[in-house]
Amino acid sequence: MSIEALEQRLAEVLEADLILRNEPMARHTTFKVGGPADLFVAPSSVDEISACVAAAQETGVPWRVLGAGSNVLVADEGVRGLVIHLDKNYSSIAINGTFIYAQAGATNEEVAMKALDKGLRGYEFASGIPGSIGGAAIMNAGAYDGEFKDVCENIICLTPEGEVLEISVDDADLGYRHSLMMDKGYVVLEAILGLQPGDTAKIAAKIEELTRRRAEKQPLEMGSAGSTFKRPEGHYAGQLIEEAGMRGHRVGDAMVSEKHCGFVVNAGNATAADVLAVIHDVQEAVLANSGVQLEPEVRIWE
Ligand SMILES: Cc1cc2nc3c(=O)[nH]c(=O)nc-3n(C[C@H](O)[C@H](O)[C@H](O)COP(=O)(O)OP(=O)(O)OC[C@H]3O[C@@H](n4cnc5c(N)ncnc54)[C@H](O)[C@@H]3O)c2cc1C
Repeated sequence: MSIEALEQRLAEVLEADLILRNEPMARHTTFKVGGPADLFVAPSSVDEISACVAAAQETGVPWRVLGAGSNVLVADEGVRGLVIHLDKNYSSIAINGTFIYAQAGATNEEVAMKALDKGLRGYEFASGIPGSIGGAAIMNAGAYDGEFKDVCENIICLTPEGEVLEISVDDADLGYRHSLMMDKGYVVLEAILGLQPGDTAKIAAKIEELTRRRAEKQPLEMGSAGSTFKRPEGHYAGQLIEEAGMRGHRVGDAMVSEKHCGFVVNAGNATAADVLAVIHDVQEAVLANSGVQLEPEVRIWE
């Protein structure tokens, strides 16, 4: 792997200010932890994204995609290789009738607000999920009885080999925090959502109600990646953690939230090592107390 060779290749396709060296990932994750990425780019078109992937593949440098960074925990040592950030630079949203065409970097909130503006219902459930459309598709994000797969029609992806594919929702294998794109290492470029005409006042009221419920239950004032663990079959992670006596358990500045035991939060200047230690302690305590093995939902980049 040659970072220098990759940097040269990237300079042929991207403006210089879009290529960052040793960019601290703590700046780009909602946990606000994570060391530097060797190279960090923010492409703004399919051609640029394809060129970044091709350059990384050809120079043998490992690469990853980052959306809004609301479901990743990046190691203190950072990320070796290239991070392709699909964010504001690649976030246009178009509407045609009841269909929404959202580029990967558009946020769920932006899509929900556009839908509200056009009197389209169906995306209210996702309005408070602080991620991107790309992250929502890959993770099949869900909340309050809604799931991305309920509203998604098609997903446009880029394969590591450079092919652009349009995958129907039926073929995308969207399950609980799982997708075909995750398995295959595809980049999500765009999602096409099919919503229904609705009453603007009712859509706004639903968004407001879900926002209120979130703020009541979740420690939104602290850095986190949302629910740290997947929901184990037949249980709630938060309840198991509370029953294991781990509410408020702290290592350094990482702790199990007092407000919602399912969240590990950054109470100040937590390191990734602090967060990982809390995750590990919680897993051990829950296993000992209830026999359930908790699996992280947060994607760990180390
Ligand atoms: C306060 C809070 C509340 C939350 N509540 C919820 C909730 O109710 N429901 C829920 O499902 N989640 C929730 N989350 C978790 C998170 O917001 C979702 O998982 C979200 O879908 C992640 O999107 P992202 O853009 O932030 O992805 P990132 O964190 O940037 O990335 C997550 C994973 O997706 C991959 N990825 C991201 N974009 C792309 C792309 N375009 N192509 C290919 N791979 C990509 C990354 O490589 C990584 O593996 C919450 C998080 C927080 C902080």
